[in-house]
Amino acid sequence: MVNTANATRAEIGVIGGSGLYSFLDRVTEVQVDTPYGAPSESLFLGEVAGRRVAFLPRHGRGHHLPPHRINYRANLWALRSVGVRQVLGPCAVGGLRAEYGPGTLLVPDQLVDRTKARTQTYFDGVPLPDGSVPHVVHVSLADPYCPVGRATALQAARGRDWEPVDGGTLVVVEGPRFSTRAESRWHAAQGWSVVGMTGHPEAALARELELCYTSLTLVTDLDAGAETGEGVSHEQVLQVFAANVDRLRGVLFDAIAGLPVAPDGERECLCAGALGGMDPGIRLP
Ligand SMILES: [Zn+2]
Repeated sequence: MVNTANATRAEIGVIGGSGLYSFLDRVTEVQVDTPYGAPSESLFLGEVAGRRVAFLPRHGRGHHLPPHRINYRANLWALRSVGVRQVLGPCAVGGLRAEYGPGTLLVPDQLVDRTKARTQTYFDGVPLPDGSVPHVVHVSLADPYCPVGRATALQAARGRDWEPVDGGTLVVVEGPRFSTRAESRWHAAQGWSVVGMTGHPEAALARELELCYTSLTLVTDLDAGAETGEGVSHEQVLQVFAANVDRLRGVLFDAIAGLPVAPDGERECLCAGALGGMDPGIRLP
């Protein structure tokens, strides 16, 4: 029996990437508007292991939004506004090392931003529709991912006999094109692990809203410089994702069940105090 007051609230958010367009069977669809416009799609709220979950397909239900057109600010704001404080962000990536072949699950601990034209802060001095003006705020992103969320995701994968790669650097490119071989070899030479198109500014914006954010990257292909074939195609990405989507869903379910219960303000990780008590000038939802 769904408590109707509860039906439009959630504590954990899942932002599904390419190939993960639905997540829960019994959902309440909630349309949320934000001061930044509409999120990619309605939120789909339901329950996993007694936890309230909000699912948001990052590219929209029909995958109509390319990575550079996603309204990342609206997406994270919308999740927070229904009560979400912990976010799991699965996404498809290319592997930058031969050993990270298709089907590898890597839970990164670092991020490199190589995007070019994305709004990546809430604190840009532009007034919101309610007249409030965001102050200048500089959050720390030294450790871009929630340590609690990472540990929970790793444990969930191991519990499903899917040995994950613990740590590594996700480099995020603007897209929507894939990398040239030279770019790909350069990324690999830096020691970076996987390349994607959506991990930034998602993680940075989550930190600004004091949300816990955990990235789970599923390798769908070896990036151009790490292989000798034709280079990656979007079809290949979707095929590999489809082949792994059931076990990824299982890992996400177990991660949701494993995340510590964290009533607002009681999380122990760095994410919860990202603003350090500063007045951001705008009221977080
Ligand atoms: Zn956290």
